[in-house]
Amino acid sequence: MTANMVRLAAIKDVQAYEPPAAFFDVAEETGSVFGENVFSLSAMKKRLPKSVFKSVAATIEKGDALDPAVADVVASAMKDWAMEKGVTHYAHVFYPLTGLTAEKHDSFMEPVGDGTAIWEFQGKTLIQGEPDASSFPNGGIRATFEARGYTGWDVQSPAYILENPNGNTLCIPTIFVSMTGEALDHKTPLLRSQKAMADQAARVLDLFGHQDIDNVVSYCGPEQEYFLVDSSFVNLRPDLLNAGRTVFGAKPPKGQEFDDHYFGAIPDRVLAFMHDTERALFKLGIPAKTRHNEVAPGQFEIAPVFERANLASDHQQLLMSTFRSVARQHGMECLFHEKPFAGVNGSGKHVNFSFGNNNQGNFLNPGDNPHDNAQFLVFCAAIIRAVHLHGGLLRLSVASAGNDHRLGANEAPPAIISIFLGDQLADVFDQIAKGGATSSKQKGILNVGVDTLPDLTKDAGDRNRTSPFAFTGNRFEFRAAGSNQTVAAPMVVINTIMAEALDFCASQIEAAVATGTDFNAAVQALLAKIVEDHGAVIFNGNGYSEEWHAEAEVRGLKNLRTTVDSLPEYLTPASRELFSTYGVFNEAELESRFEVGVEQYVMTLVVEANLTAEIAQTTVLPAAVRFQTELAENVGALKAAGVEADTADLLAVSALVADLRAGLAGLKGAVAGAHELAGIDEATYLRDSVIPAMDAVRAAVDALEEVVADDLWSLPTYQEMLYIL
Ligand code: ADP
Ligand code: MG
Repeated sequence: MTANMVRLAAIKDVQAYEPPAAFFDVAEETGSVFGENVFSLSAMKKRLPKSVFKSVAATIEKGDALDPAVADVVASAMKDWAMEKGVTHYAHVFYPLTGLTAEKHDSFMEPVGDGTAIWEFQGKTLIQGEPDASSFPNGGIRATFEARGYTGWDVQSPAYILENPNGNTLCIPTIFVSMTGEALDHKTPLLRSQKAMADQAARVLDLFGHQDIDNVVSYCGPEQEYFLVDSSFVNLRPDLLNAGRTVFGAKPPKGQEFDDHYFGAIPDRVLAFMHDTERALFKLGIPAKTRHNEVAPGQFEIAPVFERANLASDHQQLLMSTFRSVARQHGMECLFHEKPFAGVNGSGKHVNFSFGNNNQGNFLNPGDNPHDNAQFLVFCAAIIRAVHLHGGLLRLSVASAGNDHRLGANEAPPAIISIFLGDQLADVFDQIAKGGATSSKQKGILNVGVDTLPDLTKDAGDRNRTSPFAFTGNRFEFRAAGSNQTVAAPMVVINTIMAEALDFCASQIEAAVATGTDFNAAVQALLAKIVEDHGAVIFNGNGYSEEWHAEAEVRGLKNLRTTVDSLPEYLTPASRELFSTYGVFNEAELESRFEVGVEQYVMTLVVEANLTAEIAQTTVLPAAVRFQTELAENVGALKAAGVEADTADLLAVSALVADLRAGLAGLKGAVAGAHELAGIDEATYLRDSVIPAMDAVRAAVDALEEVVADDLWSLPTYQEMLYIL
């Protein structure tokens, strides 16, 4: 038995794979299943008394406070609806700071004391739950023995049913707070920030003379990139299993240089997976819409249609867990890590966002003549101000050990946060800076030189994939988010910094108008001031270039390269002031988020360092030493036979074995050095000492992979994992 037998067996498994039997039913797919498992407004309308329905709908649509009196009626109708669909348990679902989804299941069953039981769901159990909070990260908000935490129903995110072969569960999206009211999750600050932004946006709309100002919300449409790898390979890679990424792997002979995977034909097996995930998402009312191959082999993308940010964020978490479980049913592992394979593009999550409401529409819609659309320009200018003042917070909102591998690596925007406006808007703001905008570059007709084709329109501006923050026609796209993270974190920052900027805009215009300035003149003055003060953040060039790094520094833009550089942004005086003014985080919450961020970073790196040492020591070194012995025996045998022996291979392998041993000693020493440190000091040390030590081990291992006999190598290679599906 040779070491590579396990790999060969895995390849056989992949070849033997048959997709599950026909699952695709067009009639079902195209309508009736959508939202089937959601207690949606339409489901409520059918089941609730009119007055109760009206009250709940007002909370959902207009953001009115929930009337507790209606909770019992809603809970009971929800339970009946769910039990008709085979549900026996309910769960409050929340999003703790681990970035994962947590749920605690309870049965509807209530014993009544005479040995029998009834099925019941009361309003108070719908509204509030009490999970033990001690095992979730809280960043020192409370001591471990002070465990009480509460979940509270987010009425604006509908309850849904998760199907499982062993019974269905009614899931209720909730916030998660400590007994002292501090947020322990991602949803609470998202709801708070949404409200803060809405209040300030309403002031601006009011100044523009709108009468009927409906509840303002932020919308979010996340594009999600991911890899699919056959489970047979993943099971042979302890690094993928435990860290979600490979800590070793030589570059395959053919990488992504041909760009032949991007938008290519989707492999059958993956298409089967996509159909199944979409069907599951449709049932949950998640509007999955766009799907395609991504740049790297084995990499794909899904984009649902945008929704209100809090719903989009819940749906995004559900999407990731659905993808993981459907992938397993298809014998694959869905990888959301930001950089599962070195040297191959990583995965991001592009956060498309806009602001709007039912009556006034999308505030980021420029119309055909943006120079004439003063309200649009004010919202746009507010974004320019917000991003310039708080680029560090935006960077922080996407900081993680995984994303550090991606940002600035010529596949994702740099860690410097700048704005791309596109030709049309950049031109309008240029004109504003020079005294007033009088024209907008227009859309054109594309001349493709083929008469039979209908005219194709050409947008007024191009795209720029190197920009972290790009205007894309009627929305902005924040492109720096990592594939594995919740979109709630960036949306909290986007909402909060917009609240500040809109507050500034409204106050400036109000003050000018109060002293007799004409409204239009006040708006023009405000726009000109913002371009002058914050225009430095606008950059339409190549964000991947060296020159931009130098220029950004001259412009005074932050370049927070790593998570360790970014985490202190939570605690700057400007952040404390911003978040407390708009009621999004208090001091204790900011400090707790900083602590949790440090803790997550440290845990991730320690696990990766240990995996690196263990796999190198127990799998790679033995293979290398065996090969070295084989070569040495060959040299000895040749010499004994009187034949001249070439020792070049033996010497090369011996040198790499020595490198590996030295690397391992260095890594073990570096890891030991972390024990004396704690907090941000430990994180800094891991970044500066342990990562380079891991890199040294990796260099030796990857070089060995290219020389050691294949039959001694048991780790599936990049070639196998990325190309055999
Ligand atoms: P791209 O061309 O950028 O790859 P995709 O179609 O892959 O575009 O994804 C674009 C995302 O932006 C989708 O989720 C889409 O619903 C979302 N989107 C479109 N309009 C808006 C908007 N006004 N606000 C927020 N998100 C939007
Ligand atoms: Mg896309």
